[in-house]
Amino acid sequence: MSDLSAFSLAGRRVLVTGANTGIGRGIAVSVSRAGADVVGAGRSAMDETAAQIEAAGGGRFEAASCDLSDKATAQAMLDQVWAAGPLDGLVNNAGVIRRADAVDFTEADWDEVMEVNLKSLFFLSQAFGRKALEEGRRGKIINIASMLSFQGGIRVASYTASKHGVLGLTRLLACEWAAKGINVNAIAPGYIETSNTEALRADAERSAAILSRIPAGRWGEPGDIGDAAVFLLARASDYMHGACIPVDGGWLAR
Ligand code: NAP
Repeated sequence: MSDLSAFSLAGRRVLVTGANTGIGRGIAVSVSRAGADVVGAGRSAMDETAAQIEAAGGGRFEAASCDLSDKATAQAMLDQVWAAGPLDGLVNNAGVIRRADAVDFTEADWDEVMEVNLKSLFFLSQAFGRKALEEGRRGKIINIASMLSFQGGIRVASYTASKHGVLGLTRLLACEWAAKGINVNAIAPGYIETSNTEALRADAERSAAILSRIPAGRWGEPGDIGDAAVFLLARASDYMHGACIPVDGGWLAR
């Protein structure tokens, strides 16, 4: 019989960025249902996430207010959260997307996406890694990658660059920290119904083209990603380092 406790997060404390909505909320709810206490970090109110977690009857939830586009603020937030109780996991989920043809792409749209999706992800991981290594604690980091960690896409230059970078950093951090007790892995969501994909779903032609290419025949839901996150935070994945799990309805297999 398999040891189901290998999939439990009881007694763990996990920080999830961008937990107020979308995939981040889905991860927060799944992770808390698996028994962990969750700290949701972000710049918007987390009331709906708190309510869903309470209704699900899992671990406790608290919110940490923070604009992640500022590296120093984000690191200070993590240090403060850690001071209240050490963390076992960090999920770098917060991300933004800007759409424009490559010939029109602005520097502002480049910088904003890189700051949140890549720079903040690295320095938050660094803050988490420093604490865990200092205290000799095991830790698990999950980075939210994308289909555009593997493919080019169109009209999303900075997003594609940032998500290719997320995959690279996942591998680099895994190589540096695997032997020190920190697992760093990624999840690459396919097309998930959130505000990030609102513009695509509003475009009837693009939306139909995307759907027709998904072997599973449906868009993903935030909970699909949440369940994969539980696995990557649990003991069951202790020997996984630098992996990226596509949760994409088969998109990349096509
Ligand atoms: P979403 O609904 O737009 O959520 C994005 C989250 O990031 C929100 O919580 C947002 O907070 C937060 N965030 C953005 N900038 C921030 C900042 N400066 N400081 C703090 N928080 C900030 O999108 P989503 O689809 O759930 O995306 C979550 C992650 O999944 C992203 O990394 C995205 O790239 C990735 N992803 C999504 C899909 C998809 O199909 N949806 C596919 C592949 C990858 P606010 O609500 O306050 O803006």
